[in-house]
Amino acid sequence: MRYDRQIKFKGINESGQQRISNSTVGIIGSGALGTHLAESVARMGIKKLIIVDRDYVELSNLQRQSLFKESDAALSVPKVVALKRELQLIRSDLEIETYISHCDAQLLEEAFMQCDILLDATDNFETRQVMNDFCYKYNKPWVYGACVESTYVACPFIPDITPCFNCVMGILPVMNRTCDTVGIIEPAVSLATSYQVMYAMKILTSTEFEPKLVFGDVWQMDHTTLKFSRMGDINCKTCGDSPTYPYLNLREDQTMLCGRDTVQFTTLNFDQNQIIQFLEERNIEYIHTPYFLRFKFSNKPMIWFNGGRLLIHEVKTVNEAKTIYHQLFG
Ligand SMILES: [Zn+2]
Repeated sequence: MRYDRQIKFKGINESGQQRISNSTVGIIGSGALGTHLAESVARMGIKKLIIVDRDYVELSNLQRQSLFKESDAALSVPKVVALKRELQLIRSDLEIETYISHCDAQLLEEAFMQCDILLDATDNFETRQVMNDFCYKYNKPWVYGACVESTYVACPFIPDITPCFNCVMGILPVMNRTCDTVGIIEPAVSLATSYQVMYAMKILTSTEFEPKLVFGDVWQMDHTTLKFSRMGDINCKTCGDSPTYPYLNLREDQTMLCGRDTVQFTTLNFDQNQIIQFLEERNIEYIHTPYFLRFKFSNKPMIWFNGGRLLIHEVKTVNEAKTIYHQLFG
């Protein structure tokens, strides 16, 4: 029996496995955290996985992002496409819905409403604040996770039970360094996602537990837990007495991607044929795949995804990217 060892575990039992097998899990991001989380929840036996990521596989991902292959990097396969292919080999009966997209309020409200829980695998605070608002507004638990260098952190946020992410942010370990500058090792990823998956198991099986923020440094072999149930602010705009969910109403057109020297534009009104025609009129060479067009303009590598998302690489600021964008598209 496939889930025998998990059912024998006293915290899960037959009834817990039943709940797990009826559950839908959303994962926001498909990098180091997202791939580890996706494999774990798939093997755990959930019914359905919904996952979003805007990136494609690169060679430098393979050191810590599980399931991706060298061929995915060589072909710049979108991360969620590569992930779905591998997960389906592990669990042919798992329902998987993927989105090659930036995760914003609109996508959450369109695609993630059916989730029983959301797992955080993003690399930036802005998306987490949108997730946090979404989850508290629609009464869904979510589990924060992050790692950089050799440090890891995980924390469950449960509407009506715990204060929200905004209320706790002040005591979170400083995570303003990025993997691109100080690097990251796989054990830090594994620890963050192990705690996230443990919390997901408890929440999905309706196990009672005391929520704690957990963090540590695997290289230093330090580990700490912190209770945070009493840290809620009654004036919090997300979990306080009169919530307005401000981050759900933000609409950003351009975003600087975390530590990537990359700016993303999300409001392009062109379709693929128009972009191709546009590039050909300007004699700009391009690579065309089923998912995107890749080209260079003004010496900056760019990638245009079907659906209207444009990434401009090797830029330092949003303004620099806007200048190039307007040179290109007027
Ligand atoms: Zn709050």
